[in-house]
Amino acid sequence: MGGGLAGMVAALRLEQAGSPYLLLEAQTRFGGRILSQPVAADAGFGVDLGPTWFWPHQQRMRRLCAELECAVFAQHVDGDVLYQQSSVQPVQRSGEGEGMLSYRVEGGTQSLIAALTARLDPARVHRGCPITGVARGDDGWCVTSDDATGAQRQFRAQHLVLAAPPRKLLQIDGLAQCLPTGLPAALMATPTWMASQAKFVAVYPAPFWREDGLSGQAFSRVGPMVEIHDASATADTGFALFGFIGVPAEVRSQHTTQTLQDACLRQLVSVFGAQAATPDVSYLKDWAREAWIVSAEDIGEPPRHPELDLSVWLPQLHSMQLHVVGSEVAPDEGGYLEGALGSVEALMRTSGLFA
Ligand SMILES: Cc1cc2nc3c(=O)[nH]c(=O)nc-3n(C[C@H](O)[C@H](O)[C@H](O)COP(=O)(O)OP(=O)(O)OC[C@H]3O[C@@H](n4cnc5c(N)ncnc54)[C@H](O)[C@@H]3O)c2cc1C
Repeated sequence: MGGGLAGMVAALRLEQAGSPYLLLEAQTRFGGRILSQPVAADAGFGVDLGPTWFWPHQQRMRRLCAELECAVFAQHVDGDVLYQQSSVQPVQRSGEGEGMLSYRVEGGTQSLIAALTARLDPARVHRGCPITGVARGDDGWCVTSDDATGAQRQFRAQHLVLAAPPRKLLQIDGLAQCLPTGLPAALMATPTWMASQAKFVAVYPAPFWREDGLSGQAFSRVGPMVEIHDASATADTGFALFGFIGVPAEVRSQHTTQTLQDACLRQLVSVFGAQAATPDVSYLKDWAREAWIVSAEDIGEPPRHPELDLSVWLPQLHSMQLHVVGSEVAPDEGGYLEGALGSVEALMRTSGLFA
């Protein structure tokens, strides 16, 4: 259940092991929190509206990129950093930026999802098929799903692998009743990492900030964006800037996407100058409106890294042939792409599914 990074990689490992599987994804696209949008109508690569970076110590991401033949490049950080302290003071420039090394997937993180999709059997992966109910019978799991036409379908499975954010699992009819004591409460207590965030990306014909000796990094106490970075799709094409919007989700919900987008663009002009006014294309993604990822409990909560250690429930879960993966249940690097991959490695080690 779930076609984000964890669900797609779990499916790939089953495909490689020659085990029959069926992947059901609720949305009409795969990727979950991974989402890249095209830099131009005819471009095959995109800029990231979800996850952007991985870091040097995250070797699972390194290995997956190599396995899927997705090129990586270093985040552009060369150049000065800008600080917008208030709307009346001039923007300050500093040569002592925050140049921590991080990596990006060329053409957008969605390149990983495209490569995974290409390696999976199309007959076994279904989009637009939310799982709405599950029941445990003597012969395994009975899974109810709505298909793309809205019709209800039922599937039988020996094992059920859940790869959706923990709080979303509790919205599936019948699942909480099947879970070991204490697990439903633990799932509810686990926040969905970054689920209430929003990002704005503007794509430009040229990297005017780099030409000005700027890194593209800016920090603002004015907003709506609080932190801005170079978001170019590759090291030297698809030039873009992105910012995390600091306005809380409840406040954002009172404004239209267009109003927020206009405010972000005005801010880019006030920080980077007039050339920022005319992007080729711009995008705003408000993750708090993503009903298949975010839960009501995630909105308004202060950001908190998820740390859900399933080990106490694993014996019972395994006896039921029920498995939970995803970045929120990662053995380490919880919340990150790396964590999502770590949770699948744990599944492979402990579930007996890959024997
Ligand atoms: C704005 C933003 C920025 C981020 N930046 C970074 C970053 O720079 N680096 C980093 O490492 N991480 C970052 N993250 C976190 C990263 O995106 C996640 O850790 C990772 O993508 C989670 O993958 P996942 O497969 O565990 O879950 P998800 O991607 O959430 O996938 C879960 C899937 O389950 C599906 N689903 C839900 N309910 C059902 C149902 N009933 N039936 C069927 N399918 C269902 C959903 O539609 C979704 O596709 C960021 C996240 C966001 C939102």
